[in-house]
Amino acid sequence: MVYLDPGHQARANTIHERVSPYSNETKMKVTGGTTGVVTRKPEYVLNLEAAFLLEELLTEKGFEVYLTRSAHDVDISNKERAEMANEKKADLVIRLHADGAENPNVSGFGVLVPSKKQAIAKQSNLAATLIVSEVKKQSGMKVNGIRYRSDLTGFNWSTVPVVLLEMGYMTNPTEDQKLSNPAYLEGMLQAVTTGVEKYAALQ
Ligand SMILES: [Zn+2]
Repeated sequence: MVYLDPGHQARANTIHERVSPYSNETKMKVTGGTTGVVTRKPEYVLNLEAAFLLEELLTEKGFEVYLTRSAHDVDISNKERAEMANEKKADLVIRLHADGAENPNVSGFGVLVPSKKQAIAKQSNLAATLIVSEVKKQSGMKVNGIRYRSDLTGFNWSTVPVVLLEMGYMTNPTEDQKLSNPAYLEGMLQAVTTGVEKYAALQ
């Protein structure tokens, strides 16, 4: 079973929660996300569009799929989103996000995974590797690869394998427009689906 988490929501929640069960450090429950520099689309809108599409593609392949949210006007913290998937003992969680950078030239698809210290690191990294190798086969896709993160609340509270797709940079004018092109988004998410199928076959 795959749990999809479309990142962010209509309004940020600036109340803090613990970043990890192992530290007292805190971070905002849900940040605002980025915005398309050309499309003016908020990231939380793109993330849900992508989640619905990925839900459809995975369902067609026979996966059972759950979403942490299917509307924008919700208030679910990153810790709560992780706990939703933990409770269902998801085989894999896919968090959907888009990136933003000060430099408008920065672009590309990337995947974030929990740091190597976490118990879920190995399986998460396997899923990320398979996804990245499929996305690389898509023509016209710039792929930045995998980055390890120990500072993400949604990773630190997860007890099940989890990857975070940074689908592209909404601060890059070309990539922002591509991300709102249904053919481009579907091509990317078809590749992600194939990666998930390969991951599932190895379980
Ligand atoms: Zn985001």
